[in-house]
Amino acid sequence: MSDFSVTEAQTCILQHVQRSGVESVLLHDSLHRVLAEDVLANRNHPPYDVSAMDGYALTFADVSSATADAPVPLTVVDDIRAGQMPQVAIQAGQAARIMTGAPTPQGIDTVIRVEDTALNGDEVSILTAPKLGANIRPLGENLKTNVVVLKQGTTITPGVLAILAMVKKKQVPVFAKPTVAILSTGDELEAIDDPIDENKIPNANSHALYAQCKSLGIEATLLGIAKDNEEDLKAKLAEGLEYDVLLASGGVSVGHHDFVRPTLEALGITMHFWRVAMRPGHPLAFGTSKRGTVVFGLPGNPVASMVCFEQYVAPALRQNMGHAKLFRRSIQARLSHDMRGSLGKTIFIRVTLNRDEQGYVATSTGAQGSGVLMSMALAEGLLAVPATADGLEAGEMATVQLLQDMDFQNDADVEI
Ligand code: AMP
Ligand code: MG
Repeated sequence: MSDFSVTEAQTCILQHVQRSGVESVLLHDSLHRVLAEDVLANRNHPPYDVSAMDGYALTFADVSSATADAPVPLTVVDDIRAGQMPQVAIQAGQAARIMTGAPTPQGIDTVIRVEDTALNGDEVSILTAPKLGANIRPLGENLKTNVVVLKQGTTITPGVLAILAMVKKKQVPVFAKPTVAILSTGDELEAIDDPIDENKIPNANSHALYAQCKSLGIEATLLGIAKDNEEDLKAKLAEGLEYDVLLASGGVSVGHHDFVRPTLEALGITMHFWRVAMRPGHPLAFGTSKRGTVVFGLPGNPVASMVCFEQYVAPALRQNMGHAKLFRRSIQARLSHDMRGSLGKTIFIRVTLNRDEQGYVATSTGAQGSGVLMSMALAEGLLAVPATADGLEAGEMATVQLLQDMDFQNDADVEI
């Protein structure tokens, strides 16, 4: 089997990831979740035409000639506050004082803001010619009874949550989150609570993957570290297969002690691919169990594991949670220096971003080895040197996926 391209690998993964079921959560807990049903408005809002300003409700024809030099006087016959109903219909030559959000009285077609008037006892002078219909919010401008206001698949932002509150959704139907297990593998690994042993390597991947899941709103379970022997691996991988998604890191390349793939196969996992034409992250295994568990065998090198999470795991998790936008937003940036590529492989370079008059400028975060975590810690974006180029020169444009926001887009933007 030849190596998948990045896009082929993404497509294969997304074909095998189901959307999760529906659960009901409290309104406040629904933030960042995805609506699982259409939401209908249960009322009109505003319930009638209301004033958009503090001012005077009147008939346009009465005041169409008004200027500061030739103001038009009207008699104030009512004072209408928000939440109160008007008491009188307005006749020619009359106006009603009105507050923002108060219902407009019968007989008027325009509201003049208070700043464009002068009050003297019961008489108000209109100082400017308004536009017919100005400053009136029509009935149902925000919500119309029985009309869909929010569609299934909408991500709940604070603005969306405000609409849910307006339609009194104290309980919100959302797509459930997957259960995710994280397992690191390797005899050389030292757990965070172990005393320092100079011959060992601190386990970074479990915690990096945990944080990456958390940034998607998922609280993953850490299964610890599996030794590089089939017995321990089998037991811990089997435990991980009880979850919806299993992220195992390390042990997926072709080394003498890399048992993850054969062990997963022995546990009945169907492997769909195990190599992608990219760097960092060439060894990347993806499989599914009969029960529906999705398994990623991520590379052991910490940067490779994190980059692969961004390219493959995050879109899969977002699809499972019902998001329409799966991929990180990407932008075009100009290279501030030459960057090496490799024909036939997509190379992801960790970059910082600046802006000048011509747009974004990308600069490498430093040594780019797949074990150099600092390159990831400093990164604002991942720049893709496409598989079709063996390098890009200073001044050339490239696609950069933004890492530092929570903004996603509909597709990967370019074939990489
Ligand atoms: P592997 O793919 O298992 O051969 O691992 C490749 C490299 O990544 C080795 O140098 C490992 O020590 C390192 N590595 C593997 N797992 C982890 C981990 N959980 N945390 C930090 N480094 C790791
Ligand atoms: Mg290993």
